Amino acid sequence: MPIKKTTKTTNKKSKVMKNAPAKKKIVKKVVKAKPDDAQKNRIAKTKVISLLRGMKDSLPKEEKYWKTMHRLADSIAEAYGFAWIETPVLEESNLFVRSIGKGTDVVDKEMYVFEDKDGGKICLRPEMTASVARAYVNHGMQSLPQPVKVWYLNSMFRHDRPQAGRYRQFHQFGCESLGVKDPVVDAELIAVAYHFLEDLGLKIIVYINSIGTVEDRQNYIVELVGYLRSKRAYLCDDCKKRINKNPLRVLDCKNPDCKEVIEEAPQIIDWLSNDSRNYFMKVLEYLDDLEIPYELKSTLVRGLDYYTDTVFEFYKEDGEEGAQSALGGGGRFDGLLEQLGAKEPVPACGFSLGLERVINTLKDKDQAEGKEEEKYPIFFAQLGEQARRQTLVILEKLRKEGVMVKHNLAKTALKAQMEIADKYGADFTIILGQKEVQDGTIIIRDMESGVQEIIDQKKLVHNLKKKLGIN
Ligand code: AMP
Repeated sequence: MPIKKTTKTTNKKSKVMKNAPAKKKIVKKVVKAKPDDAQKNRIAKTKVISLLRGMKDSLPKEEKYWKTMHRLADSIAEAYGFAWIETPVLEESNLFVRSIGKGTDVVDKEMYVFEDKDGGKICLRPEMTASVARAYVNHGMQSLPQPVKVWYLNSMFRHDRPQAGRYRQFHQFGCESLGVKDPVVDAELIAVAYHFLEDLGLKIIVYINSIGTVEDRQNYIVELVGYLRSKRAYLCDDCKKRINKNPLRVLDCKNPDCKEVIEEAPQIIDWLSNDSRNYFMKVLEYLDDLEIPYELKSTLVRGLDYYTDTVFEFYKEDGEEGAQSALGGGGRFDGLLEQLGAKEPVPACGFSLGLERVINTLKDKDQAEGKEEEKYPIFFAQLGEQARRQTLVILEKLRKEGVMVKHNLAKTALKAQMEIADKYGADFTIILGQKEVQDGTIIIRDMESGVQEIIDQKKLVHNLKKKLGIN
C-alpha cells in the first residue's frame, strides 16, 4: 500500500509561502538596565583614580636622592649663612603678574589661577623669588642687618606642557640675598648652587651674561626689535609673535629655524653702561678666583621682567643645552622689591635649582656608572614572640645612639629574614632568638663568612658603632 503523504516536502514551498515576505530574523534585544544612582556611586568609588597629568609621585626608590638633596641644601645654606624661609603655596596672582611680567610664558600660559571663595584672584606659586620679595616687604626686613639671606626647598606649580624633565608640580632649592648690591653677592650665590651640584657628584658649567640696568635693556630692545623685524621671515611662528610681545624671549628660542637669526643678533653686552660692564667683570673675577667654570652666553636673558645685570644658568658640563636641560638659574633683581612696595631700593640676587631635573641627571649618572642599589650594612632578625617584642625596645635604643638597622617584623621565619638581609646587601645580621632573650645576649652574623659571635646585649651599641665606623 502506497504511503499516503500527509505532509508536504519542505523544499517545495507553497505558492502562498513563496510570495510571503521573508521572515524577519528575530534579534532579541537585551535591554540593559540603566544603573541607578547607588550603582553609579559604587562604580565611581571603585574606579582607579589616576595621577593628574604633569604631576609626579616621588616613590621610596627615589628616597636616597631626595634625602641627600634635603640634607645638602640644609647644610650648604647654613654654611653660607642663609636662613630658612617658608611662604604659602597660595598667593594673590597679581604678585606674579606684577613681578614676572605679562608677555612671559609663566604668567600668560602657565600659572594655576583661580577664584577664591571670596572672589579674590589667587594662584599656586610658579616660583619663589616674588614670594620672598613680598615677605621681605611685608615683614619690614629692611630693618634687619643687610643682606637678608634666605633659602627654601619647596614645590612650585606651572601648567606647562608635560614632557621629560618638565612637570606641573616640581621642587626648587633656592637662595636669595636681599638688600646689598655687590658683585661678591652674585658670586656667592653662584658658588652655593655650583657647590651643591658639585657635591652631588655633577660636573657643572655656568652660563652667564649681563642684561644691564632697565635703561640699558630698553635701549638694547629697540635695536633688537629692529633687527628681528628685518629677519621676521626667517623666524618660527612663535618668535614672529614674540617680536612685539617679548623680544628678548626670541634669544631663548630652541627652534632650529631661528638659530641663525639668533646667532647674528646684536648682543646685549655691547649695550651695557660702564657701571654694569664693570660690575659684571668683577663677578667674573670672583668666579675665576673660585675656579668655577663658566661660559659667557650672550643669548642668555632669562625671560622674566624682573632681572637686571647678572643672569646665569647651570648645566651639566657634558649635557645637551636645551629647554629642558637647565638644572637651574637665577640672577639679580634690583628693581623687584620697589615694584612690590618697598619704600627704598632693595637690590637683590638669587638662584633656584629644579630638583626633579637634578634627580633625573643623578639617576642617568648612576645608571651609566652601573651603580648598585643602596646597601644597608646591618639587618636585625628576630625569632619567636618574646624576641619580637624585645626587638622594638632594642631598635629604639639603637636609633637613639644613631645606629640605623633594617628589619622586617612581619616575618617570623629566620630564613625569610636572612633572604631580606641578603637583598639589602647587609654585611652583618643581628639575630635575637628565644635563648638570647633569656641570656641577655645577641648573635652577630658576618654575612660573608657566615661566622657568628654571641655578645652581651649591653655591648651591642658599642659593637655596631665600631662596625659602622661611628664614634
Ligand atoms: P626658572 O627660574 O624658570 O628657570 O626655573 C629654575 C629651574 O627650575 C629650571 O632650570 C628647572 O631646573 C626647574 N624648572 C622650571 N620649570 C620646571 C618644570 N615645569 N618642571 C621641572 N622643573 C622645572
